[in-house]
Amino acid sequence: MSKVILGGGISGLSAAFYLRKKFPLLSITLLEASNRNGGWIKSEKHDGYIFEQGPRTIRPHGNKAINTLDLIEDIGLTNEVEYLPKNHPAALNRMVYVDGVLHKLPSSFSSLLTKNPPFTKPLVQYLIKEFRQTSKTVHDESIYDFVKRRFGSEIADYAISPLICGICAGDAKRISVKFLLENLFYDEQKYGSITKGFIKNIFKKQPQPVILNTLARRAKSEKWNVFFFKDGLEVFPKRLEKVNKENNVDIRVNQSCTSIELNPTKVTLHMDSNNKVETRHLIATISAKKLSELIIGHADLTKLLSSIPFVTVCVINLHYKTELLKQEAFGFLIPPKENLPILGVIFDSCCFPCEGCTNLTVMMGGHWFKTFFGENPTDEHLLDVALKQLEDILKIKDKPNSFKINVLKNCIPQYIVGHNETVDKIHKYVEDNKLPLNLCGTSYNGVGINDAVYSAKTMVDKLQN
Ligand SMILES: Cc1cc2nc3c(=O)[nH]c(=O)nc-3n(C[C@H](O)[C@H](O)[C@H](O)COP(=O)(O)OP(=O)(O)OC[C@H]3O[C@@H](n4cnc5c(N)ncnc54)[C@H](O)[C@@H]3O)c2cc1C
Repeated sequence: MSKVILGGGISGLSAAFYLRKKFPLLSITLLEASNRNGGWIKSEKHDGYIFEQGPRTIRPHGNKAINTLDLIEDIGLTNEVEYLPKNHPAALNRMVYVDGVLHKLPSSFSSLLTKNPPFTKPLVQYLIKEFRQTSKTVHDESIYDFVKRRFGSEIADYAISPLICGICAGDAKRISVKFLLENLFYDEQKYGSITKGFIKNIFKKQPQPVILNTLARRAKSEKWNVFFFKDGLEVFPKRLEKVNKENNVDIRVNQSCTSIELNPTKVTLHMDSNNKVETRHLIATISAKKLSELIIGHADLTKLLSSIPFVTVCVINLHYKTELLKQEAFGFLIPPKENLPILGVIFDSCCFPCEGCTNLTVMMGGHWFKTFFGENPTDEHLLDVALKQLEDILKIKDKPNSFKINVLKNCIPQYIVGHNETVDKIHKYVEDNKLPLNLCGTSYNGVGINDAVYSAKTMVDKLQN
């Protein structure tokens, strides 16, 4: 029986890899709309520096990360991996810009006991407040409301809101608490407070440690903070593509699907070339939004898929032939309360050194893209805004020696309040209607690369044939 995978991003390429591993004789076809695989992962290599136009680093912690490291090892990329240790300045120094000043966020135990602006009290006092706070039974709420209720508005405004901008370019006032703080949310519901839950959990029996492969063992012993690839993140999807091709996966680019007919016994994909591709089983790794626009005749499913919102992010990579940064840091984020037209700036040349030069990435838009830039801003306007903010905040007046502007349309899903229920309903619809369809990718259970790879792995693990 053949399977078709729609989408050649990291989710689709991982799905193909796991499928081939599980079913050596299966006919697998992967269809990708653009002229390259990799999706949002795109690295442009220049002489001495790389412009990462989408993601740049991967987190090495947790089971999903261990799974990614397993895959990296399996496809022979171990020697390409580089990392930032936990004691690197870029790992220790993460900043927020509040009231015209860059503030370093607390990163050590001792900083819990001292007052660190923009917070007006030592962090330990917010923890005491949380411990004493009465609990409230709720099914779901925004991460902003949850943190404000438990710790107060300063933590919600200056720690959580910029963090949500950094992770999903979203508004913490809309994003579900379960997106990032699910365990803390359930601790409050179960124990009455997060701090009480934390103390109780210390005495709980710890789960059996997972057996680690070489890379995951190294990540632990060398205390990695984040990892990346020395030639850019795109080597990851490129190598997966190569391995899949060697393993007889039929990978076709320039194959844009324009509509999908889904029946219990057959799936028909109509392509923009007027061709049809028929299969007994479809694995859709494209975004829920795009999928909702393709499916014919399942109005309830379409409605559920399209109810997951997406935001557009503008990524501006800048290269200067001089050293301009005064701080050694990962970069800074801007709390939405500041009402500025950028989300934050990554100090690439601090994370990935570049002799005598400076590389920066300015992230703009996200939830606020239309508010600040309208429907179709020109590249010139976007660049002007970015450079003006760099001048105001970092006092950088120089013009970049080279730059790249990319507007990534609808690139990050927003897990708004009620997201988990929406995803459950989507899976239930597919099951109840016995549709030969599996979904993976970042629209459902996590927005990062580790989530994408893990979604492919768990989806394939569950397949019977
Ligand atoms: C600006 C930015 C920064 C990020 N930074 C990080 C980071 O530092 N670390 C991290 O872990 N994650 C980061 N992420 C998230 C990460 O990029 C995603 O988790 C990951 O790339 C998603 O991969 P995917 O395969 O699920 O989806 P995609 O990359 O969207 O791939 C889907 C593919 O499907 C194709 N497709 C779409 N429609 C059709 C169609 N009709 N027919 C055929 N093919 C179609 C598309 O062309 C695309 O290639 C970032 C994302 C963005 C946008």
